[in-house]
Amino acid sequence: MSKFWSEAARRCKPYVPGEQINRTDIIKLNTNENPYPPSPKVIQEIQRETDRKLNLYPSPTADKLREDIASFYQLSKENIFVGNGSDEILAFSFVAFFDTDKKIRYPAISYSFYPVYADLFGIPAEEVPLHEDFTLPVKDFFQAEGGVIFPNPNAPTSVYLGLDSVKEILESNPDQIVIVDEAYIDFAEASATSLINTYENLLVIQTMSKSRSLAGLRVGFAMGQPELIEGLVRIKDSFNSYTLDRLAIAGAEAAIRDVDYFKDTTNKIIMTREWTVSEMKKRGYSVLPSQTNFIFATHPDQRADRLYANLKENGILVRHFKSKPIENYIRITIGTDEQMQKLLRTLDSLTASS
Ligand SMILES: *Cc1c(COP(=O)(O)O)cnc(C)c1O
Repeated sequence: MSKFWSEAARRCKPYVPGEQINRTDIIKLNTNENPYPPSPKVIQEIQRETDRKLNLYPSPTADKLREDIASFYQLSKENIFVGNGSDEILAFSFVAFFDTDKKIRYPAISYSFYPVYADLFGIPAEEVPLHEDFTLPVKDFFQAEGGVIFPNPNAPTSVYLGLDSVKEILESNPDQIVIVDEAYIDFAEASATSLINTYENLLVIQTMSKSRSLAGLRVGFAMGQPELIEGLVRIKDSFNSYTLDRLAIAGAEAAIRDVDYFKDTTNKIIMTREWTVSEMKKRGYSVLPSQTNFIFATHPDQRADRLYANLKENGILVRHFKSKPIENYIRITIGTDEQMQKLLRTLDSLTASS
């Protein structure tokens, strides 16, 4: 605390990201990064871009990247907004679409950046408790006063909500925006992007950090009808014209175009996930039905905080949240087959020694 801090700096409660440890002997399964490198074409394009033009500002509108994303989803460039990670787009969305005198709604167990942004921008919020099985209570999101935001699949639970339910939420909020944070959608059944042309109140936010192995490059995108995209552009241009640098734009273009590589790595992770879940269940863990690149697991006779600490001591980093009612769960990112085998061996050795 300093006397020079503004009221906002004093008041805010910053988000705490998962630990970033750069030791190569640690198996890092705590922040849902992709265990595979990005497409080789991404590296090539970034390399090519470094060889020229770094003296010049990047395109403030990133038109080519937006066209590439649009064609992946059969949308048009006017439906696409790009940003420095989806976290930045979430922040812009709170300013562009939520008001300080109307309560927004998000799930009580959800991405912990939402309350941070709500606080920072002075937006009142109602946290909606999940059902006991961690599914979303769809009707509790009907007729929100000031808009709705939720991840689908949800984080950190990994649970997916079907598009019929997403439609119900959209239809019961005709005058409010509904923001669907699809950070993990590529590991799930179906994206709400197919609903964009039907619902003017739908904004879908995705990221290249998980399924496209680019957490280090910081690229996210939002999709919606052009009026919504314009709202985001107004906020962005009141903040920073060049949120994406040249290397990020070049790498992201290559990533979205290399569909084969994306499908290969995504399918591999889904297969590893299904195998890991069945192995965990054999060992007595309950695992929520995951449609993400992580699993959320609990064991009837092992405390999650101890499990987290014991795994860490054995060189495996997972995520544990201390808050109720998820204090007895651990969240495990799906790594390579070898990494998951090591995880299971370690879990076995821990049970044997306890
Ligand atoms: C990882 C994640 C994000 C942030 O993604 P970035 O694009 O890396 O900022 C947003 N929402 C959820 C739910 C996430 O898990």
